[in-house]
Amino acid sequence: MTTIQLKPKREENILRFHPWIFSGAIAKITGNPQEGDIVRVVSANQEFLAIGHYQIGSIMVRILSFTDRPIDRTFWHERLKAAYDMRLALHLANSDTTNAYRLVHGEGDNLPGLVIDIYGDTAVVQAHSVGMHYAKYVIAELLVEIIPAVNNVYYKSEGTMPFKAPVKPVDGYLIGDKTETIALENGLKFHANWLDGQKTGFFVDQRDNRSLLEHYAHGRNVLNMFCYTGGFSFYAMRGGANLVHSVDSSAKAIELTNKNIELNFPGDPRHEAYAVDAFKFLEDIKDRYDLIILDPPAFAKHRDALRNALRGYTRLNALAFEQIRPGGILFTFSCSQAVSKEQFRLAVFTAAAQSGRSVRILHQLTQPVDHPVNIYHPEGEYLKGLVLYVE
Ligand code: SAH
Repeated sequence: MTTIQLKPKREENILRFHPWIFSGAIAKITGNPQEGDIVRVVSANQEFLAIGHYQIGSIMVRILSFTDRPIDRTFWHERLKAAYDMRLALHLANSDTTNAYRLVHGEGDNLPGLVIDIYGDTAVVQAHSVGMHYAKYVIAELLVEIIPAVNNVYYKSEGTMPFKAPVKPVDGYLIGDKTETIALENGLKFHANWLDGQKTGFFVDQRDNRSLLEHYAHGRNVLNMFCYTGGFSFYAMRGGANLVHSVDSSAKAIELTNKNIELNFPGDPRHEAYAVDAFKFLEDIKDRYDLIILDPPAFAKHRDALRNALRGYTRLNALAFEQIRPGGILFTFSCSQAVSKEQFRLAVFTAAAQSGRSVRILHQLTQPVDHPVNIYHPEGEYLKGLVLYVE
């Protein structure tokens, strides 16, 4: 097996269980590893530190284990079972009202580079590293073995592999062939569509924040910007909103939103959906809405895009602050990992100041329990939200 030897004193991060090894920390590579291979990491004094997946780029090893052990079927079984047991303990995997949840959240589940979402009987597996791409078959077999409800496993990694990876994954079924399922989130139904949908098909990370929104929706005129499959919209409907307008630039998203509303509230005239660019739609909403959700896609995919992203958040939020009805509530989010909580708050603060409105913070939101943050890997915290009261 290839050995990666670190420079003197560069083992400190690993001793603190950080799961990545950057190229700058490496002194010597013995052997000729290919991307995706399992490699051993040792200190300058040849002491064993960790074992992980080799990759080419600024992160060169994603650590799978800090103990010296084979990465075999037993390893994968242990890690996937631990992830499932945690979701059972958190009353997600055994809930009567929710059967859509994230089973594996990368580093947060000690499986860097792997994401798995469950929609009832289906697991959707996403590899973000070549090592995880190679492990997909054993992972699929174990998923149906460990989770009684799952009998269908879809692999969806065409869009998630590192840009220069030497493999080009093809999306498809690893087990089963079911094309769609109707899943449940807090008793509300939605079509989970892993074939056509973005990412794994549905954003389960907003579950708790949607519940909170439901709590405030009664009697309000709700505008759900960047609605995608309409998650916030159907919660607002159940919460007793006066009207709910959903907006997304993608016509496909609007179609999915309409289907999901129809599934839960057939023929309900309170809902309308528009396939329009958000910035264009927000140009002239006047004071029609008193509950607005802004949940845009990640504006900063990389650190270099940070400044523009922060400007984007400010511009977007300013449009909402300027027009929301007095006494209105704004749910505003950023899912960019590169944008910190403080930076996002500053961007929203700037927007509030531009509007001159009185704005108070009611809630500070984050990702739910099935997207755990490994305490040794704070980079895993990506979802940030603020609920604001605007006078
Ligand atoms: N709030 C959603 C997730 C939003 S994902 C949920 O709860 O599931 C981001 C969405 O923004 C995508 O559906 C994408 O199509 C949409 N989008 C991206 N750019 C946009 C733009 N300029 N205007 C409107 N929608 C946009």
